[in-house]
This record gives sequence, C-alpha cells and structure tokens, in this order.
Amino acid sequence: MDEGLEGRTAIVTGGSRGIGRAICQRLGEAGANVAINYVRSEHSAEEVGQMVESAGGKAHLVRADVSSEEEVDTMVTEVQRRFGPVELLVNNAGVFDYVGHDETTPALWQRALDINLTGAFLVTWAVKSEMIERRFGRIVNVSSIAGLRARPMSIAYAASKAGLIGFTKSLAEAVAPFDVRVNAVAPGLIATEILDGVAEQQLQDIIAATPIPRIGDPAEVAEMVVFLLSDRASFTTGQTIVTSGGRVLLP
Ligand code: NAP
Repeated sequence: MDEGLEGRTAIVTGGSRGIGRAICQRLGEAGANVAINYVRSEHSAEEVGQMVESAGGKAHLVRADVSSEEEVDTMVTEVQRRFGPVELLVNNAGVFDYVGHDETTPALWQRALDINLTGAFLVTWAVKSEMIERRFGRIVNVSSIAGLRARPMSIAYAASKAGLIGFTKSLAEAVAPFDVRVNAVAPGLIATEILDGVAEQQLQDIIAATPIPRIGDPAEVAEMVVFLLSDRASFTTGQTIVTSGGRVLLP
C-alpha cells in the first residue's frame, strides 16, 4: 500500500535535531511538504531543510517556542501561507531533566509541562479545526516509556509524557468521527543529544535491562511515526506504540 504522504503538508515540532530531524528526513523521502520547527538551533534546522529537499520533499523552517500560544499561532499561519492546510502534525519538541525529587523545583516542573505537554496541546489546537473541517488529519505525539513506568530521576518529565498519552487517547476519541487520527509513540533510549545529562553507567544499566540490548536509532522511531501518519495505519487511532527494544511492554 502507498503511504499516501506525497504532497501532504506536515509540521514537525523540534525538527532541528535528534528524533525530529529523522522524522523530517523520512517525511521528505515520502514526498511531503515539511515545516521544520525549532526554537534555537537555526543552523541545524537549515541542514534538516537541505536533507528534506534532497530526499524529495519540500522544506520550510519555522522558529517558534511551542509553549507560547502567540508564537505557535504565528508559526501555523506561516506554514498555511507557504504550503496550505496542515494535514500531518508531529508533536515531538521536548526537554528532559535527570534530577532527583529534591531538585525538582516548581520552575523545573512548569517548564517540563509547558514544553512537553502544553506545547503539544497548543500546536494541536492551532491545526485541529482545519483538520476537522477538511475531514483529514493525522497527529502523532512523541511520548516516552517514561510515561508508562516509574522514573524517580525524571518526575516532571515522566508526568508530562504520561499526560501526553492521556491527551492522545481522549483527543483521538473526540476527533475520530471527523477522520482525524491521533496516536503516540513511546520511545525507549534513543541516541540523541537529549541523553547528554545521563551518566554513562546509567546508560549501560538501561542497555543491560533492554531485551534488544542497545540504544535505538532516531530513524527507528521516525519509521514508526511515519507509519502512524500514513494511509497504512488507516484503522489505528488513540494508540501508543512502544519503540524501546522491548524494555517496556504495554499492559
Ligand atoms: P533533542 O535531540 O534534545 O531535540 C529536542 C528538539 O526539541 C530540538 O529540535 C529542540 O529545538 C526542540 N525543542 C526544545 N524545546 C522547544 C521549544 N520550547 N519549542 C520548540 N522546540 C523545542 O531530543 P530528542 O531525543 O530528539 O527528543 C525528541 C522527543 O523524543 C522529545 O519529546 C523527547 O522527550 C522524546 N524522547 C526521546 C528519547 C531519547 O532517548 N532520545 C526517549 C523517549 C522520548 P532546538 O534544536 O531549536 O533547541
């Protein structure tokens, strides 16, 4: 079956680095129009834009902090002007903290919730009416296995990622009658800069506890995200697909 993504317009938040970069590249290979969102890394975003274009897609860079309603609305308007209605959305932008409960301050908690959870809500809300009107929309939220099991060193992060799974399930039911599908992926340990703050021993312990004993590649997550965006997942909504080398199995 064809993926059905050629010429479709996508926004990928946090598309400048890591998993988001791999998703943009994969969407480029599928022939999509890809709006690459970033907040600081303009140079990296430009590189991703070149990757998308050489893979066969069209690229447009959009800077916006996903936790700012004003910046998100400006971003979506700019993408609509450049490419037309937004049909595919990947809420991937995220920040990670590896700190104990005694260092989890209200400010740290708020930042995790604002970017990882409210950010996904704001971008979704900026595109959902148009998706509903056009009876076409596909959204994938990038959660984490941290949202499925205890993470004593990432309390705020885990709460934000669990929230994203609840958001996915509830929104999926609300918009399913309008042919808008909403799913999530929950990656395990993936080789990106987000892991820079995690101690080497901790990484080794996680690898040892993973049935497929290695760190995942961003492209492996991108493949799952693009599957969920594609026509191939036409009867799938409200689900969270775990891509973690088997480390966490859903109940
Ligand atoms: P990364 O390499 O650190 O990249 C994070 C991306 O998010 C960057 O593109 C960054 O933009 C963007 N971003 C951060 N704050 C933002 C904001 N306020 N507004 C807009 N964009 C923002 O991280 P990653 O590992 O690829 O993670 C991507 C997603 O996967 C995150 O949601 C993360 O929680 C999730 N995840 C990752 C892993 C893992 O092991 N790597 C595991 C499970 C889940 P700039 O480049 O402009 O800063």
